[in-house]
Amino acid sequence: MSKLASSLLSRVSHDLHESKQAPVNSPGHDDPVVTEGAGAQTKSGKTATLAWAARTDVGLVRSHNEDSFLAQAPTFAVSDGMGGHAAGEVASAIAVATIAEHAPAHADDLLLGAAIESANSAVIEGAITGKGKTGMGCTASAVHIELNKMAVAHVGDSRVYLLHNGALVRLTHDHSYVEELVDAGEITADEARVHPSRSVITRALGSDPDMYADHFTIDVSAGDRVLLCSDGLSSMVEDSQIEAIAVSSATPQAAVDNLVAAALQEGGHDNVTVVVVDVVDDGVMDLHRRYYLKRFVTVALLIVGIVAALFVAAMLFVRNSWYVGVNGDTVAIYHGVNASLFGQDLYALSETSAVQVKDLPDAMQQSLRDGIVVGSEAEAQATIKSYHDQIEADKVHAQQIADKSTSGTQTSQENPAVPKADGETTEGPEEEAAPGEAAEEEFVDEGGE
Ligand code: MG
Repeated sequence: MSKLASSLLSRVSHDLHESKQAPVNSPGHDDPVVTEGAGAQTKSGKTATLAWAARTDVGLVRSHNEDSFLAQAPTFAVSDGMGGHAAGEVASAIAVATIAEHAPAHADDLLLGAAIESANSAVIEGAITGKGKTGMGCTASAVHIELNKMAVAHVGDSRVYLLHNGALVRLTHDHSYVEELVDAGEITADEARVHPSRSVITRALGSDPDMYADHFTIDVSAGDRVLLCSDGLSSMVEDSQIEAIAVSSATPQAAVDNLVAAALQEGGHDNVTVVVVDVVDDGVMDLHRRYYLKRFVTVALLIVGIVAALFVAAMLFVRNSWYVGVNGDTVAIYHGVNASLFGQDLYALSETSAVQVKDLPDAMQQSLRDGIVVGSEAEAQATIKSYHDQIEADKVHAQQIADKSTSGTQTSQENPAVPKADGETTEGPEEEAAPGEAAEEEFVDEGGE
């Protein structure tokens, strides 16, 4: 709790410091700004796809306005300052100026969050260099709308709402003590709005160099109304009433005027700042849609054309392919390739032969089962003929060996081999040695010993 307490930033000191100084609002815009007395400003404008109005008011209790807004289409922001006289308004002014300077070129919420983080560094530096005061800080909620995309980034309890099809949806989650109590189920949203600690925020610009912004991107469409506000509106006016006013106000200017008036009617206890942006469609978005549709159709047709060309090329390849394979027990010629596509065979039997697969060597049999690719039907026929010729030649050779074997057997039967003393046989019968010769050999052997 002590860590939380040290990080909490409170705006309860606002009314201790009074000033007649006009609010510091975003620089860098060309639209006329109408100042309606100290602490009040309004501004409006229009582009091809957006119409907006912004209004800030000091309220009925406080003497100076510490809120700032940025209306630099397509980037819009609200910042609620804190820190007392010559501090809160400086912090919020630094924040919106830095966000304007670092605003992304497209609806990139990561870069929009980075812009808020740059604003945090700028506020901290401003306190150090004496632009403001030590301890000053602020909230920051920003949007960047690009056609049908809206990037959102925020820190603190200034809110972003979206009115879509007549229903108001809060897009941001407050970084506040009471929001944590609501999340924990300890109080309701209505109780949070009047809670004594409703001004205590848990994340803000100006204190922590490592502070980070929440950010995300959502889709928007023509007819949507985006609303940014400080807690001077959301703490004084219920969401249901905000919705009713947003729905019933014809223009952004009417919406901001009516919303600020409602906050003042409820007591105006805080500075009130409201920015309303309408997503409009005067043909530009339709042009973009047609451009993207045309590009999509072109790419789709290109892909279909490439696929069709590949299919035709594959079919031509199949139609001009031949291979020698197996059909049952015999060798056959096939037209196509030995494969299937989506369950369809890419080959057809063209011709069978009398060559038996079993008469071929084992390795050849396996190659035939895989399919032996040849360049043409004639080449396939020649290949089978070579198998046939080889088998016939092998048969003749085998027959010759068999005949020779048979002939040799018959000769042996007529003139059987004579076993030698060690069991081997001789090529033919030897003449029996004369008894005298045998006796002589025996004599020599003995004499040799
Ligand atoms: Mg406030």
